[in-house]
Amino acid sequence: MERAVSVAGKLGQAVLDLVFPPRCAGCGGGGAFLCDACAASLPWAAPPRCLRCWRPTADVGVCSHCRAAPPAFDGLRAAFVYTGAARELVHALKYRGITVLAAPMASLLAEAARRYELAADVVVPVPLSGLRRRTRGYNQAEALARALGRELGLPAWPGALERRRHAPPQARSADMEERRRNVEGAFVSREPGIAGRRALLVDDVTTTGATLAACALALKEAGARSVCGLAFARED
Ligand SMILES: [Zn+2]
Ligand SMILES: [Zn+2]
Repeated sequence: MERAVSVAGKLGQAVLDLVFPPRCAGCGGGGAFLCDACAASLPWAAPPRCLRCWRPTADVGVCSHCRAAPPAFDGLRAAFVYTGAARELVHALKYRGITVLAAPMASLLAEAARRYELAADVVVPVPLSGLRRRTRGYNQAEALARALGRELGLPAWPGALERRRHAPPQARSADMEERRRNVEGAFVSREPGIAGRRALLVDDVTTTGATLAACALALKEAGARSVCGLAFARED
């Protein structure tokens, strides 16, 4: 039976490959959705950065923003800088519907989670608004969170956070304070199981960390013991 399933699985994959031959989201080359060369060239968001919000900073330890107004998350990390192949991957997953990218992207997220020693019991994606989920058909953060949960051997809880209302898309020019106000109170957690647990919040891109901070606050209000954030890429 297992053999039949695996043959059927392989056949299914072969048919898929015929219909949609894999093309690298980074360079367009054939053979894989992310080729080895593009994976190796991804721009890691390396220190020196604020240990709390991961903003590039010359300050030692925690940046002046986080000292003035500590965000609700215990620590935010981004694997890559939002540029080059990292940006291409995020776009392909979010706008071109190439959901098979979630698995290789989650392997890279898992590498970051281990590198930065992010302790967690459950993985929670940043939710999309109902409106955006209906038009896109899926939530890219949820796809990443599910695949990351499989990589780390942790449960993914896509229902742990809900959007209370439809926040307007963030304008690129919006400053930190405006972004924070836009998402303030936009999330709520009605998941009783979150109490006492360490949550790892997952999103595809972060800019100021305002959305992840608002999510972290909702999880903490529901009793989460700690909340770390992990984004695939950060707009520096
Ligand atoms: Zn490539
Ligand atoms: Zn900071």
